[in-house]
Amino acid sequence: MLKKLTLLFLLINLISAQQQQLPDFKFQKIKDNFYLLQVFIDGNKLGANIGIYVGESELLVIDTHFAGLYPWLRNSFKQITDKKIKYTINTHWHPDHNSGNSFMGEEGIIIAQQNVLERLSSPQIGVGLGKPGARAEFPARPFSDLPKITFQESLDLLIDSSKVRLRHFPNAHTDGDCAVFFDDLKIVYLSDLYWPDEYPFADVYTGGNVIGIRNTLQDIVDETDDDYIFISGHQTTGSHTDLINYIAMIDKSVELVKSQWNTDSDYSSIKMDGVTQWSSDLVPDSVWVRMIINSL
Ligand SMILES: [Zn+2]
Repeated sequence: MLKKLTLLFLLINLISAQQQQLPDFKFQKIKDNFYLLQVFIDGNKLGANIGIYVGESELLVIDTHFAGLYPWLRNSFKQITDKKIKYTINTHWHPDHNSGNSFMGEEGIIIAQQNVLERLSSPQIGVGLGKPGARAEFPARPFSDLPKITFQESLDLLIDSSKVRLRHFPNAHTDGDCAVFFDDLKIVYLSDLYWPDEYPFADVYTGGNVIGIRNTLQDIVDETDDDYIFISGHQTTGSHTDLINYIAMIDKSVELVKSQWNTDSDYSSIKMDGVTQWSSDLVPDSVWVRMIINSL
């Protein structure tokens, strides 16, 4: 995220210096009335995704990106609709998913799992969020940024006549992850529980756990079917089969680590043959191995 924050500061400077270098706000129609918004600057993806459900008379928005992009980000919604926001959901505490809360919160109520409120209400330290080993301090957020409705395990919302289910999966990507089920559309917004082309990121410093991610995804596979689409918080989407294959990749990774690691060994000697194609800048093999060890 630090790299992304640097990009963001550059972006704000560009906007204020020239008043014209706006990023690209790209909307992808996932299904019927559901859109995925991604932000790009000079072709580089910036920050987390935003999910937008367009109801008959109002909107439900998932995550709020960075504060520095407002009001441009909100205005970009006009590409798809003029409707107002009724609810905004924060999928977890990481700032690239909720730093625009005070802007979105002026229009619709912010909702999150209880642990998200607790973390945003107090200073947090982020480790490895933007690149391996990076450490960043985040101050407690002002009242305007905080979720105003929270839940423990689950919450159902009605947007017009459609039911939307929010469900907490403890100890997965963080301690406060919420997956959002649109059962009428057969969509589940998984946010950072799912990184289709990369190893997942378990923030073990704030309650995340690789095994927790694995078990979360298994629960979700078990209660959905082949018609469902699963949306990622930073990439795009995956199918039911993709999710099953992703779980198999996590299982194989855990097996590889267990079979090669003991407390006397150096984790850097562990080889991830057969899964290394999932490594990324954010979670290279060495970080993935450590994340698994920290999760066992
Ligand atoms: Zn995250």
